Amino acid sequence: MATTIRGTALRGFRCRSCHVLSPADERYVCGECYGPIEPEYDLASLDTETLRLAIERGPRSLWRYAPLLPVAEPKSHYAVGWTPLLEAPRLGEAIGISRLFVKDDSRNPSLSFKDRPVALALARAQELELDTLACASTGNLAGAVAAAAARNGLRAFVFVPATTDEGKIAGAAAYGATVVRVRGTYDQVNRLCARLADEERWGFVNFTLRPYYAEGSKTLLFESAEQLGWRLPDHVIVPVGSGALLTRTATAVAQLRATRLVDDTRCSIHAAQPAGCAPVSDAVIDGYRDVRPVRDPVTVARSLAIGTPADGDGSVAVIRASGGSAASVSDADVLEGCALLASTEGVLAEPAGGVVVATARALARRGAFGDDETVVLYITGNAYKGTLDSPPLGPAIAADVDEFRSSYAEALA
Ligand SMILES: *Cc1c(COP(=O)(O)O)cnc(C)c1O
Repeated sequence: MATTIRGTALRGFRCRSCHVLSPADERYVCGECYGPIEPEYDLASLDTETLRLAIERGPRSLWRYAPLLPVAEPKSHYAVGWTPLLEAPRLGEAIGISRLFVKDDSRNPSLSFKDRPVALALARAQELELDTLACASTGNLAGAVAAAAARNGLRAFVFVPATTDEGKIAGAAAYGATVVRVRGTYDQVNRLCARLADEERWGFVNFTLRPYYAEGSKTLLFESAEQLGWRLPDHVIVPVGSGALLTRTATAVAQLRATRLVDDTRCSIHAAQPAGCAPVSDAVIDGYRDVRPVRDPVTVARSLAIGTPADGDGSVAVIRASGGSAASVSDADVLEGCALLASTEGVLAEPAGGVVVATARALARRGAFGDDETVVLYITGNAYKGTLDSPPLGPAIAADVDEFRSSYAEALA
């Protein structure tokens, strides 16, 4: 048996529709049926104790889980992940949860958890020798992509709804990205980017690099379990935008069990969404039905305003299978949740964090958590992102490829 573990245990990419296994090439959908593909690992080859030691002796970043990630650590990037899991007794007392923890992921380099998926996407972009990173974003992804590109000497194009928080736009622009504000919803921005991803050989983190990007989200659960002494939390409360973080939380649970790094059986995954855009929570609450798109999201939690979540139905299935539940919470409760988290635990979160706190409180009132059960809240974004003045920006455009090309000809040249 091997006494050290080097590199990834990646076996290939499995299609979720037709189940064909393909090698890691440039395709980002299944070559047979165009279905979504996901990494598959040779977990049986990993000796549990050797793996655990390799992780514990690894870097203080998400790359400590390298055997369970599809790509190797990029050379010049900064450390992402290994954020603190804080005991939160005062918040717990305020919202009626006896064993409460806060996973404070607002402390990443660009102040949101999006630095995790971007670290994986960047590593893959460098393997493919791409010179440009791009994304469709509700705000935080734009900052994470812009920062990673700056850090590694790449060009960045980030596309956001024109209504995105000014501080987040200013941050992405300050990192030197071309920030393209699109007059429309996130879903319209997304469609524009899907077309550009076909036309440009850019590293589009949430399209052409998505199978890698999504894997970064697993590491939040890996870390939470390791920080609990290799125990799964009994409950995790996950803010949902596209559903990548929620579905990969379930993947991470399955991989920790398959490698026997943990032997707990229970880990219920709960969805947190704002009432103004709650397609996943509403589907769960209505008896685990199919997700229905929300056409015009209106909420203070703009980072979660995705009306047509790519992993929406997947999220509902995962929540059901794990014995989880969901809540959708009002903007007033979201802001109260932020204030409560800040004043009881000293963690200043953006509204997505307030959505999670308010959801935890609503679920506690329903009796979802036992007294001896651990509950982990994912706090995914920092409130300090809102304070920069913006450098000069290009024009806001319609969600139209030709208008983008004519308005941004100089940046494209
Ligand atoms: C993007 C984001 C999420 C949700 O992530 P998805 O993987 O898109 O569901 C949660 N919180 C914050 C702060 C985010 O920026």
